[in-house]
Amino acid sequence: MFQSHIVVLIAGLFALQMAVVCVVLRRSAGMGRSGLTSWALGNVAAAIASVLAAVQDSRPAWLAPEATDLALLAALALMAIGARHFAGRSGRTGLLLGTCLAAAVGVAWQMAAPGIPDAPLAGLQMAPLLTACHIGLLLDVTRSIGPSVRTARGIGRLAAASLVLIAIAVAATNAWTMALPVAELVQDGAWPQPLPWDGELALLNVFALVGLSVSVALMVHDRLRRMLERRARHDDLTDVLLRGAFWEALEQACLQAERQRKPLTVAFVDLDHFKAINDVYGHLAGDSVLRHFAGLLRRTSGPQDVIGRLGGEEFAIVMPDTGMENGRLACMRLATAVRASPCPSEPDAIAYTVSIGLATRNPGEGADALMRRADRALYDAKLKGRNGVSMHPVAGNHAPAVGRYATRGSERLAS
Ligand code: GH3
Ligand code: MG
Ligand code: MG
Repeated sequence: MFQSHIVVLIAGLFALQMAVVCVVLRRSAGMGRSGLTSWALGNVAAAIASVLAAVQDSRPAWLAPEATDLALLAALALMAIGARHFAGRSGRTGLLLGTCLAAAVGVAWQMAAPGIPDAPLAGLQMAPLLTACHIGLLLDVTRSIGPSVRTARGIGRLAAASLVLIAIAVAATNAWTMALPVAELVQDGAWPQPLPWDGELALLNVFALVGLSVSVALMVHDRLRRMLERRARHDDLTDVLLRGAFWEALEQACLQAERQRKPLTVAFVDLDHFKAINDVYGHLAGDSVLRHFAGLLRRTSGPQDVIGRLGGEEFAIVMPDTGMENGRLACMRLATAVRASPCPSEPDAIAYTVSIGLATRNPGEGADALMRRADRALYDAKLKGRNGVSMHPVAGNHAPAVGRYATRGSERLAS
């Protein structure tokens, strides 16, 4: 017979604590539709189940024999819904809640049936049905989170694996504990009630639900951390690297090029007459042009290339393992793509052009000096009438003695 009320109540306290954790995580930015509300409610239901288990053990006459199982079913249904939301497969959640409701009606009917003459389904055993529902819901949770074991990385993958493991282990335990009584029921038509391990099973289930919630909280935390890290490194408007992150990547690329004695080319790109675009079409249209250009940049750049927004309408590309000629061809392709595909807008698409300055790294040259030369080349492209690509060292005598950044904004290049 199950004795330890204290332990089952401690399990309930853990469940309540997990409910609080889910609520706290739910309040983080971007966690609106992650299923955490369902997980929080599921944990509250699990805490209620633990209280019912304790009451059922000490005062069995007070409750229906299936009360704890019903509360566990509600907890599992809510968690299964939460897992579906988390995984982005939120269809048919009504079915899960419907199952719960049907089970509750079934239990109520079994309590009322003895008082009703010729009541249909009066002798129906609810315990095995409820356990079957528990198992089904645990497998549903596994189905939602299972793919993350393959797709997630690091802590997220570990948490997903632990969740799947707990869910399968508990489903198997529930199935195993039901096997013997069901065999008895089939043979003798009698159901042993209460089952001698009912209390322990309730305890195991509550702890398992807390375990599942810990795994989900870890997965959510991992998702949140990655999202915040990404936001800290990427520009909201264009989704390319922000200046600081771009600079880090450029310095790394310079070190690697030096170590491997491979060429490295950088391109400094500036949208032409962008101020006029803002003035004529408005700032929102200007933002669309920036987004549109970033999309073209992503499409035309190579898989190794690093793209960043240095500020305003100025972008830069790091092209590892690329010499001057290939870099020039890549930039020509970009400039051509920009000319060929104006930014869609109402009533007319907005045509725009870019000027690009290129520099290929000299042996021993650092990020700062390299970008300064690319900037000089860009200045030259602007001087030559915009809508073109210039390389540094620049032929002819158009080359300014010092670049824009050296003269009026060198601090903008300082990392
Ligand atoms: P140039 O051909 O010489 O490069 O001229 P320009 O007009 O492109 O350059 P200028 O530096 O005079 O103007 C850049 C403008 O970019 C000014 C600023 O208001 C605008 N700008 C900077 N950041 C943003 C942004 O995030 N969105 C929008 N819409 N405009 C921006
Ligand atoms: Mg400009
Ligand atoms: Mg500019």
